[in-house]
Amino acid sequence: MDLLYRSTRDSSVRVTASQAVLKGLSADGGLFVPESIPKLDVSLDELAQMSYQETAYAVMSRFLTDFAEEELKGCIERAYDEKFDTPEIAPLVKAGGAYYLELFHGATIAFKDMALSILPHLMTVSAKKNQVKNEIVILTATSGDTGKAALAGFADVPGTRIVVFYPKNGVSPIQEKQMVTQKGANVKVIGIHGNFDDAQSGVKALFGDRELEKEMEAAGFQFSSANSINIGRLVPQIVYYVYAYAKLYANGEIEKGEQINVTVPTGNFGNILAAYYAKQMGLPIAKLICASNENKVLFDFFQTGHYDKNREFILTSSPSMDILISSNLERLIYRIAGEDDRADAALMKSLSEKGAYEITPAMREKLGDFYGNFASEQETGRTIYNLYDKTGYVIDPHTAVASCVYEKYKTDTADGTKTVIASTASPYKFTRSVMTALGQECGGKDDFELADALSGLSGTEIPRAVEEIRTAPVLHDTVVEVREMKAAVKKFLNI
Ligand SMILES: *Cc1c(COP(=O)(O)O)cnc(C)c1O
Repeated sequence: MDLLYRSTRDSSVRVTASQAVLKGLSADGGLFVPESIPKLDVSLDELAQMSYQETAYAVMSRFLTDFAEEELKGCIERAYDEKFDTPEIAPLVKAGGAYYLELFHGATIAFKDMALSILPHLMTVSAKKNQVKNEIVILTATSGDTGKAALAGFADVPGTRIVVFYPKNGVSPIQEKQMVTQKGANVKVIGIHGNFDDAQSGVKALFGDRELEKEMEAAGFQFSSANSINIGRLVPQIVYYVYAYAKLYANGEIEKGEQINVTVPTGNFGNILAAYYAKQMGLPIAKLICASNENKVLFDFFQTGHYDKNREFILTSSPSMDILISSNLERLIYRIAGEDDRADAALMKSLSEKGAYEITPAMREKLGDFYGNFASEQETGRTIYNLYDKTGYVIDPHTAVASCVYEKYKTDTADGTKTVIASTASPYKFTRSVMTALGQECGGKDDFELADALSGLSGTEIPRAVEEIRTAPVLHDTVVEVREMKAAVKKFLNI
C-alpha cells in the first residue's frame, strides 16, 4: 500500500508522493502532508553503520513509497556525490557543549543544498512515473540564496530547465557572482530592475498565465516550482537528523535510545518541521528548540498561541531567517488541529486576510515538543565571538542565532540533555558579518580578502564554492524590466 499525501486544506485530496513532488502545492492552496508518519523500522545498530546515502534511502523510502528502489537510489547517488566537499555529507562537530550538525558542505555552502541537490532528480523520476512528457521548467525568484542552490541543483539535469530572476541591485556582490557564473546548458539567470517582491510577483504572474501555459504545452514544456513547501524538499531534510543521531551513537556520545534535543535556526519552518517528523518516526528527540532572529513571529507564537505578521520587517545579519510568514508552519498547525482540514483552512484564511490568527487552547497543549526563543543582533554577534574565543570554532550568523537560543534554553530550563544544533551556513558565506563579530577590521577589504583573513584566523580552508567564483567568468548578463520577464522566458525556451 502506498503512503498517500493529502492537502492540509482539503482532506479529500489524495495524491501519491510523486504527484505531490510534481504539484508542489495543492490546488486549494494547502500543503501536502503524509496520511501518517511512517515508523523508522531500522535498528539503531544498523543505522550506525550506514553511510549518508544509505541513511537517506532508509528514511526516504518510507515516505516516497511509489518510487522503485533503483529509482530512489539513483536519485540519492546523483544528489549526494562530489558536489559535497566531504564524504560524510553532514559532519558533526562538538564545540562549546553542543554538537553542530554542519549542513553546509554542498555546492552553495548553505543548508538549502541538502534538499535542492536531490529535488531535481525526484522531479524527473516523478515526471516519468506520471507520464509527463514535457520538459519541466523551474521558475524561481530569489533574494540571493535559494536561487543559487536551485541553479546548482538543476544544472544539466536532463529533462529540466531553470530560470532564476533576481533583483539586480538587491543581492550581495558574492550572491550575484555566484549566480551569474552558473554553468549548465539548461540554466538562465536574469536580473530585473526592481526589488525582490517585484521579482516574486512577476514569477507568480507567469505561473498563473494560462496563455503562456498553452504555448508552453504546445512546445513541450511545463512550469514547476522548487519552493520550500514541496515534500521533495521536506523529506530529504529528515535524513540528516536520523544520520546525526546514529553518528552520536556510533561515536559513543550517547547510549542507545538516549533522548537528544535539536536546535534549529528557523525561517520558513521547513528544517525544524523535518526534525519534528523525525521525532514522529520514532527518533528519540526530546525538545525541538526553535530559534528566531529579531523577526521573532515564531517566538511570539509559541509564547501566546497568537501568530501575527503585522509588524516591522527587520533586516538582520541572518537574512535567510528574515521571514514573517513561515509557510511550513501550516503543516504543524494542521497536525495540532487534529488533522482537521477545515480548521486549518480557516486559520490560513485569517492569515491571508488579516495577517494573523489565534490557535485554540487545545491546540496549544500539543505544542509541548517545542521551545521557542530569539536572539538579538547584538547577542548573535557576541555568540560568534564567544564560541570562537572559547573553542576556536567559527559559526555563521544563522547558526549563532541557534547557539544563542540554546544557551537561553539551558538557562531557562536547566535541561542538560545533549543537543544537536543545525548549522545552516558556512561562515564563509557571511564573511563580513562574521569577521565584524570577531572584532576584525573589515573596512576597505572585499569579500575575497575577508575570506582569506577568515581562513587565517580560523585555520580552516576556504570552501571550493568561494574559490571557484573568485575567478569564474560571468556567463549571464541579461537584465530586464519586470514587464519583460515573460518575453525573456519565452526567448530562453525558443517559443
Ligand atoms: C533557509 C535557511 C534557514 C531557515 O530554514 P527554514 O527551513 O526556512 O526554517 C536558516 N539558515 C539558513 C542559512 C538558510 O539558508
